[in-house]
Amino acid sequence: MEFKNLADMLTKNAKRYKNKKYIFFEDQKYTFNQVNKITNKLANALLRLGLKKGDRVAILLDNSPEFIFSFFGITKCGAVAVPINNFLKEEEITYILNDCEVKFLISSENYKDFFPYLKSNTNSLEEILTYDFSSSYSVNLNELMANESDENLPCDYDMEELAVLIYTSGTTGNPKGAMLTHKNLLSNCHSTTQAFKVKKRDRFLLFLPMFHSYAFTTCVLLPTFLGCSIIILRSVLELRSKKFKNILLFKRPTFFLGVPQVYSALAKAKLPNWFIKFLYPVRIHASGGAPLPEEILNVFKERFKKPIIEGYGLSEASPVVSVNRLEWQKPYSVGLPLPGVEVKVVNDDEEELPVGEIGELIVKGPNIMKGYWNLPEATTQAIRNGWLFTGDMARLDEDGFIYIVDRKKDLIIVKGINVYPREIEELLYQYPGVEAAAVIGIPDEASGEVPVAYVMPADGAELKEKDIKNYLKEHLANYKLPRKIIFTKELPMTATGKVLKRKLKELVLKDYQNK
Ligand code: AMP
Repeated sequence: MEFKNLADMLTKNAKRYKNKKYIFFEDQKYTFNQVNKITNKLANALLRLGLKKGDRVAILLDNSPEFIFSFFGITKCGAVAVPINNFLKEEEITYILNDCEVKFLISSENYKDFFPYLKSNTNSLEEILTYDFSSSYSVNLNELMANESDENLPCDYDMEELAVLIYTSGTTGNPKGAMLTHKNLLSNCHSTTQAFKVKKRDRFLLFLPMFHSYAFTTCVLLPTFLGCSIIILRSVLELRSKKFKNILLFKRPTFFLGVPQVYSALAKAKLPNWFIKFLYPVRIHASGGAPLPEEILNVFKERFKKPIIEGYGLSEASPVVSVNRLEWQKPYSVGLPLPGVEVKVVNDDEEELPVGEIGELIVKGPNIMKGYWNLPEATTQAIRNGWLFTGDMARLDEDGFIYIVDRKKDLIIVKGINVYPREIEELLYQYPGVEAAAVIGIPDEASGEVPVAYVMPADGAELKEKDIKNYLKEHLANYKLPRKIIFTKELPMTATGKVLKRKLKELVLKDYQNK
């Protein structure tokens, strides 16, 4: 590969693309050259503070250029970046900081209320560093960087060394740190670029949370890899703001990477006329992170006259595994494996299943993580003979397209027969007035488990349990029918639009116990 490691990627591309605009954020603009110089200064400041190769540095920041500066500054020291989910509470953050024995935390004033707690509960944490202010708990990085050199550092780190620890969303149990190497991430950028046919003139709109591997690899590392520009929004909420009109008009993004929730809103919400018109330069609308209901795919296509290109991945695979291609897409499918990535569908005895049969999806390739940080047993569970066991149930078709059926953990077993919640959810999405839906299994004496559906009605829709049950009866075998339909104003979700089914189960069980 052309780059020795991720630090080398920025250094080389700064030389190659010099004054090309790299990052846009509000009224700030940075060229490749400027960002490279800032990260060199930051790396020198971190080295002076005592950072060593392999040390862990956490990043707790909102979407901002500083997130990118921090990442590359850490990487240039040969240290390991640990992006922190900024929706987490102090205790959850402390768990991660302790688990990876973090040395420094880079954060901002927005999180200052957490600092005393994080400092007193994390033994290994030496300093909290911030760009925007200083306090008795934190040191101002801008002041430290002021007198440092902006010359390139040697950065001769091996490709196989650790670059990032991504703590998985933890929809069950404690989060685990997926260890991603420079090679894992660079190979994922390389093959995703090929699959999406990314061009150097592409401009990536980044509104998903940057701490997540989907946003970070596809909207930060990938554009950096190819010399493209990144337009950063603070959050998805800015898509609704007046500012967004100017962004579309003057920055003209060509790549829009979203999650199903965002497409659901775009497909169904009342939008001003300019929105659809100015979104026209977008070449690719990609979706990943959670299942995209076919109904949303169809309504979006009808409205925007463009398809949504669905892909699939997981943090442990750096994260992209497969994508539909611009020239070849199949609805409901998450596409073909990336170049260099192999997939198989296997049964519980790890035997490969024929085309069309449902089993667990396993993945092999240069993008597969080294393992879980400090968890050798969980690593041997997840990676066997070089194959990553994804925990996702899937089938393949005769052309090699992958269809994710459901998460293995979410499978509902009714009287010994498998029921895939997603099949019921897809039908619910097609029911007029349903904004979102999630189906879970709850214990039942007679059947072992039974499905229960949570339904979120669209604004103003008046839905009746009896009508929905009758509709489902027309399409589903009796054993798959939800025992109960529960209407809700909100579904608990992760930052990438995955419904937290564990929380729904707790809710429904509490409800049953109270009866
Ligand atoms: P994370 O590691 O947080 O990115 O979560 C990865 C999980 O998200 C996968 O194991 C899948 O269960 C789910 N996922 C990601 N993309 C898709 C997709 N396109 N369709 C269905 N599930 C998906």
